[in-house]
Amino acid sequence: MKNILLLGSTGSIGISTLDIVRTFPDQFSITGLTANENIDLLIEQIKEFNPKTVVIRNKEKAGELKNRIGNKCEILTGDEGLIEISKRGNYEILVSAIVGFAGLNPTIEAIKQKKRIALANKETLVVAGELIIELCSQYNVELIPVDSEHSAIFQCLKGENKNNIDKIILTASGGPFLNKPTEELKNVTVNEALNHPNWKMGNKITIDSATMMNKGLEVIEAFWLFGLPKDKIEVIIHPQSIIHSMVEFADGSIKAQLSTPDMKLPILYALTYPERYSYHGVRTDFKLLNQLTFFEPDFDKFTCLKIAYEVIDEGGVAPSILNAANEVAVEYFLKGIIKFNQIPEIIRYALDKIFNHQRATLETIFESDFRTRELLKKKLN
Ligand code: NDP
Repeated sequence: MKNILLLGSTGSIGISTLDIVRTFPDQFSITGLTANENIDLLIEQIKEFNPKTVVIRNKEKAGELKNRIGNKCEILTGDEGLIEISKRGNYEILVSAIVGFAGLNPTIEAIKQKKRIALANKETLVVAGELIIELCSQYNVELIPVDSEHSAIFQCLKGENKNNIDKIILTASGGPFLNKPTEELKNVTVNEALNHPNWKMGNKITIDSATMMNKGLEVIEAFWLFGLPKDKIEVIIHPQSIIHSMVEFADGSIKAQLSTPDMKLPILYALTYPERYSYHGVRTDFKLLNQLTFFEPDFDKFTCLKIAYEVIDEGGVAPSILNAANEVAVEYFLKGIIKFNQIPEIIRYALDKIFNHQRATLETIFESDFRTRELLKKKLN
């Protein structure tokens, strides 16, 4: 039996993780759950999975949660509660599925507890990649990607010598605006941007997919996770999202990992690695697939992808500035305050204005994140 601490249990990845736990009741149990504010769903999850401790980050919701569940489990609150639950160490696997920068600190605490990290929260590697990889090596921790592209590459690299990799090829669906002319992007609505063709995900990552910043973040994530130079990380548009990513080796041979798009598969793999459990929840019928197509991404239309590649060269805390600016811009787009095509403009503005400390320590990462948010909130309000 493996005990799981699930951060972000009320989100899209959290819900899929609990679906896996429900499917394998003899293999997995839940010791902790966390949410930002969705107490209705959290209470349902508490009743079904009986965690010892939960965190409701929004402190204003804690009283109501306590009233509704009584002494069923311990309740912690706030960012400090997220750190505390990770520090408890009464689990074997941390599923890191909070969205955004907020996932960083509790993930670091779990690494220090020497727990396996099933990492969905890509922002952790984007803002603090070097530090996280160093910590994992220092504490001898397995960092298993949940992001479907990185899980695919991780699987393709099993049994391979890293020196034989020619390049990795991250596939991208292209999102809802793949075929929309650039000049029409300024008029797209929030609902259109949230209408992803292949994946049902949380709002932030869905907007990131529409701007293709999601793929940009994934390029940075792959850069740290697989330790490859950026010119060995290629992005290709593959609208059907059947091939989750590929690795091309020195001899020209290519390995790919494929399946019907469903996050339950990479989640299951991150929980069971190096084993594979028998699972029939997601199957792929090739007879029903008409075609698999591939295109080069349009870097002029999807500027966010271009900026993400540039930021790798800038180094230091530039990825942290990019991430914070993107989080703010996406939040303001979702609120209807800015237009879709302003998202990359705002990110460029922040990268120009905020000082890039060349040493990315936890302190400089937090400072640049804070400064970027302050700068943009002042500008956009
Ligand atoms: P969701 O928005 O669906 O869920 C986010 C979760 O985090 C919710 O439980 C939410 O609580 C909680 N949360 C939000 N803000 C905070 C905060 N400030 N502090 C603590 N908890 C918070 O996101 P997804 O599940 O889609 O994505 C989660 C992560 O996984 C992201 O980093 C994303 O990039 C990554 N990922 C997601 C994929 C997907 O298919 N969804 C695929 C690959 C990666 P509440 O519900 O109360 O708001």
